Amino acid sequence: MRVCSENSTIFVSKSTNIQMGKKLVIIGGGFSSLAASCYLAKDGFDVTILEKNTTVGGRARQLKRDGFIFDIGPSFYWMPDVFESFFSDFGKKVSDYYSLDKLNPAYEVYFGKDDSVKIADNFQDIKSTFESIEKGSGAKLQKFMDGAEHNYNVAIKDLVYQPGEKITEIITPTTAKKIGQFFGTIKGSVRAKIKHPNLRKILEFPVLFLGAKPSNTPAFYNFMNYADFKLGTWHPKGGMYSVVEGMESLAKELGVKMITDSAVDKINASDGLVTSVSANGTEYDCDLLLSGADYHHTETLLNGNKQYSEKYWDKKTFAPSALLFFVGFDKKLDKLSHHTLFFDTDFEKHAETIYDTKSMA
Ligand SMILES: Cc1cc2nc3c(=O)[nH]c(=O)nc-3n(C[C@H](O)[C@H](O)[C@H](O)COP(=O)(O)OP(=O)(O)OC[C@H]3O[C@@H](n4cnc5c(N)ncnc54)[C@H](O)[C@@H]3O)c2cc1C
Repeated sequence: MRVCSENSTIFVSKSTNIQMGKKLVIIGGGFSSLAASCYLAKDGFDVTILEKNTTVGGRARQLKRDGFIFDIGPSFYWMPDVFESFFSDFGKKVSDYYSLDKLNPAYEVYFGKDDSVKIADNFQDIKSTFESIEKGSGAKLQKFMDGAEHNYNVAIKDLVYQPGEKITEIITPTTAKKIGQFFGTIKGSVRAKIKHPNLRKILEFPVLFLGAKPSNTPAFYNFMNYADFKLGTWHPKGGMYSVVEGMESLAKELGVKMITDSAVDKINASDGLVTSVSANGTEYDCDLLLSGADYHHTETLLNGNKQYSEKYWDKKTFAPSALLFFVGFDKKLDKLSHHTLFFDTDFEKHAETIYDTKSMA
C-alpha cells in the first residue's frame, strides 16, 4: 500500500505502476475530490466518486429549508485566477459554468456600533480608506502590497501546485531568498508598518482562513492580503454552490460517475494492497483509491496498515470547528453588506480562545 500525500488527501494504490483505464474510486465529493476526478478522468481512469451525503460539495454544499437556500460553507470567492486555470486545463472557461460578480464593498468590518470600515473592490480606494484612518498608511500599504504580490506569484508558481510529498519541493532559489519571511510573522510585519488597531485587524484577519493566528503565521503568507485587496472578492451568481455544480458538470462530461448517499465504511486490502471499498453494504472494486475525506477519518477506514498511529493524531491540532447559525429573512436588510464581519470583541483574545485555550468564552 502506498500512501503519498501530507494533506487531507490520501492516495493508496495497488501498484506503483499506474496505468490508464484502471478503476479508480474516490472517497467524498468535495472540491478536492471533484477537481482530482476531472484530472484523473481526463488521464483515462475509470473514476467513481462515492459521497456520503445526498449531494456533492462537502463543506461547500447547500442547506435548503423553508424556502431559503444557504451556502453552508465558503462565501469568500478569492483567487479567481486559480478557478480559471482549473477550467482551462480542460479547454473550458469559468463562464462556461457560472458567472461572477465582483463585490463592492468586498466586505465591511464592524468594530463597534456605527464604527465600520468598508473594503472597496479596488486597491486605489482601499489605499484612500487606509489613508483617511491613519495618515501615511496608504504609502505603507502600497509597499506591503508590493511584497505580498511577489509572494503571491511565488506561492502560485512554486508552491501551491506541488504534490506535497516532500519538503524539498518547496525549496527553490526564489523561496530560499524568502527564508526570513518564514521566521517572521504576519502580525510582526503588519505591526511594523501600520499603527491603527482597526487597520491592523483588517490586515491580520485573512490568515485566520488558513486556520492559524497571525502571531503564528509566517510573514510570507501576506499573499492572502494580495488575494484580498488586489484580486478582489467575487461571488458566483446563484451562490457558491454554483461552483460545485460547475465542477460536478465538468466531471460528468469527462465520464466521472457519482454515487451519493454512499458512506464508505471500510477500505478492503489484501497483502497490503487496496482491492475495494465497502459502502452501504455494496463492495466497489478498485485498482486505485483516492480519498478527499479528512486524512484521519480515512485512516479509520483502513483495517490495519495505517500510516499514522492514534498517538500521532492525538498530538495534532485540527482546524477548529465553528457554530454556525443560518438565519433567513423575507426582506432585504439595508444596512448589511454582502459580507459583514463583526470584530466587536477583542480580536486577539478571540483568537486565543480558538487556538490556545480552546474554549468558547
Ligand atoms: C463554515 C466554512 C466557511 C468557509 N469559508 C470559506 C471561504 O469563504 N472561502 C474559501 O475559499 N474556503 C472556505 N472554507 C473552506 C472550504 O470550504 C474547504 O476548504 C473546502 O470546501 C474543502 O474541500 P475538500 O474537498 O478538501 O473537503 P470536504 O469539503 O470536507 O470534502 C470531503 C467530502 O468527503 C465526504 N466524506 C467524508 N467521509 C466520507 C466517507 N466515509 N464516505 C463517503 N464520503 C465521505 C464528505 O461528505 C465531503 O463531501 C470554509 C469552510 C467552512 C466549513
